[in-house]
Amino acid sequence: MTAKSAAAATRATVYGYPRQGRNRQLKKAIEGYWKGTVTADALHTTAAVLRRENWQQLVDAGVNEVPTGDFSLYDHVLDATVAVGAIPPRHRAAYEADPLDGYFAMARGTQEVAPLEMTKWFDTNYHYLVPELGPDTAFAADSAKQVGDLREALALGHDARPVLLGPVTYLLLAKPAPGVAPDFQPLTLLDRLLPVYAELLADLRAAGAEWVQLDEPALAQDCTPADLNAAARAYRELGALTDRPKLLVAGYFDRLGGALPVLAKAPIEGLALDFTGRAAANLDDLAAAGGLPGKRLVAGVVDGRNIWINNLGASLATLATLLGLADSVDVAPSCSLLHVPLDATAEREVDPQIARWLAFARQKATETALLARGLREGAGAIVAELAANRADLASRAASPITRDPAVRARTAAVTEADARRAQPYADRVEAQRARLGLPLLPTTTIGSFPQTADLRAARADLTAGRIDQDAYQERMAAEIREVIAFQEKAGLDVLVHGEPERNDMVQYFAEQLTGYLATRHGWVQSYGTRYVRPPVLAGDISRPHPMTVEWFRYAQGLTDRPVKGMLTGPVTMLAWSFVRDDQPLAETARQVALALRDEVVDLEAAGGAVIQVDEPALRETLPLRAADRPAYLDWATEAFRLTTSGVRADTQIHTHMCYAEFGDILSAIEELDADVISLEAARSRMQVAGELAGVGYPREVGPGVWDIHSPRVPSTEEAVRLLRAGLEAIPAERFWVNPDCGLKTRGWPETQASLEHLVAAARQVRAGLAD
Ligand code: GLN
Ligand code: ZN
Repeated sequence: MTAKSAAAATRATVYGYPRQGRNRQLKKAIEGYWKGTVTADALHTTAAVLRRENWQQLVDAGVNEVPTGDFSLYDHVLDATVAVGAIPPRHRAAYEADPLDGYFAMARGTQEVAPLEMTKWFDTNYHYLVPELGPDTAFAADSAKQVGDLREALALGHDARPVLLGPVTYLLLAKPAPGVAPDFQPLTLLDRLLPVYAELLADLRAAGAEWVQLDEPALAQDCTPADLNAAARAYRELGALTDRPKLLVAGYFDRLGGALPVLAKAPIEGLALDFTGRAAANLDDLAAAGGLPGKRLVAGVVDGRNIWINNLGASLATLATLLGLADSVDVAPSCSLLHVPLDATAEREVDPQIARWLAFARQKATETALLARGLREGAGAIVAELAANRADLASRAASPITRDPAVRARTAAVTEADARRAQPYADRVEAQRARLGLPLLPTTTIGSFPQTADLRAARADLTAGRIDQDAYQERMAAEIREVIAFQEKAGLDVLVHGEPERNDMVQYFAEQLTGYLATRHGWVQSYGTRYVRPPVLAGDISRPHPMTVEWFRYAQGLTDRPVKGMLTGPVTMLAWSFVRDDQPLAETARQVALALRDEVVDLEAAGGAVIQVDEPALRETLPLRAADRPAYLDWATEAFRLTTSGVRADTQIHTHMCYAEFGDILSAIEELDADVISLEAARSRMQVAGELAGVGYPREVGPGVWDIHSPRVPSTEEAVRLLRAGLEAIPAERFWVNPDCGLKTRGWPETQASLEHLVAAARQVRAGLAD
């Protein structure tokens, strides 16, 4: 086919759409079902209405081929687990008794059975339920949901394409089931799984699918030869089936790398590739692989993970280049639109100038359709839209919001020395010991104390105007008095104010920094029925006034013991926000870091001897491919140091991270140059302490001795055991005693008891060391 005839057939499509509905109806219906106030029928009706509205929105936007099967009552990976019959044995009875209740039992657990584990979906902020597989897993096809959704769309007259998770990614995302050897490789089940996919495909074909999309984002990670082999084998076998729809295999979130030539050669009919951001390298890789002769290319040129308008002219140019490389070229967002909010036009309170720069799912569908039309009919057919887009982009580039000269001058002047403490760690540690005079094995907490219903009610009252700012401040102050008094009585050494005033550790700061934008309806699914509204890093960032200093000052005034100043670090601020796409992340991080640096310096001036800068997201933003990681860790650690290096030698900088797998970033932790780090360690029984010691980490460490993820109260003996285990790796002079993470999700009774045990354990071990 020539480039011209390829263009004539260009269509617009998407791989998935936000599930929740305009008013988060889905969340309400599902939670109502759990509570017993919504029947199963009513829930299914709500879901069907949402699917219908979503398809209609896409069609109205000009999308030619809509996805089916992407919609989910909880999670699309769990849906795949159901479709291939990999229900864990512990859930089977419940599932057979009632598939809907069994489904939610796998997602959330019940009194008797644990749920599937949940983890991050690649480097997004969506979380999926991890399939549990073992040598005894027997798969069985269950196409009911996929077939049902397809039939609905076809009955409504849509041109529809089922989307399901591909077999290789499904296996690569799985982990050994409980009781199975931990080194079991789920990928070894491929031969058993493929016939099940064959059956699903045949069923979809019979139900009227011309095409089926199989998502293989795992192939956009670094693949081992075994992974690539599995991909080759899977698509050779599925391709060889006779009774099947045409197959479109999708790889997104990064370039496909070694998997690209494998899939290009496979006997499938189409390939969907990401051409945004880092994945733009797919363009050269595709050309180098000889293109996709005879195949359909679906080109993901509209960023499916961010909320900014597309550069339509640049995308059209990319698409024009691609035309020569495949039999047909269709246009799509880079990945499912699940990762962006539904509709930017709902944001009526956003400054109209900024609103022009925003594109949520609905707007992205329109952009996708527009690009398809531009390719099909020529740029001339969309001149007006292209001109409007150029004007919007120009207004963004020239706006004082995105270009604040003072911020620019300040970041440009940053030197290597600005991001370094003036004294080396060895000198600082002496100065800090002299100033703080802490006992061996000092005890502390990670920052937040229980966010009680009272505190949330106070915030709701303030928002609703039922109380004024003064009354709100007084309620927070009362809470701080209580938290400080409790810690003194419990005998903790370094206190915290408890963070009662913080709605969220990122939002609280975003609301106070200039350049950050909050949305009202910008909900994005985090997992199941949990939705978050990430703030938007819209412009240059500055700090008009101190953000935490008054609370700190108040808390410190109540006690003679040191109170920790408490901030969210720059990397986490970026990771849990929508970031700018018009400048490198490193630049945005530097702006945020400078704003936070001012806060750190102000806390020190207010008497703070200990200041903690939390970076729980440092690891989760790690690029998917190892080759991209050093550059990321470079700017990320620089931003942290820039935040924290404006203080004197005798001011102690803490950081905190809450996860147990540090293997990938151990050397970056050293690069942070923090004086003390607290980490999650209780569940892995102090493993991380050994890992840090193994790389010669020279600083102070607080490996958590209380797993705060459940209301369970650890006994003093248990904490003592964990402390002793940790002390095998880290000497007592550098050992802190603290919980795994903040206590905001805990209740007061277990918080009180656990902290008392923690202090008792520290005293006991201290006494043992003195002997
Ligand atoms: N200081 C925060 C808290 O205690 C840290 C939370 C986190 O790391 N996730 O809640
Ligand atoms: Zn934490």
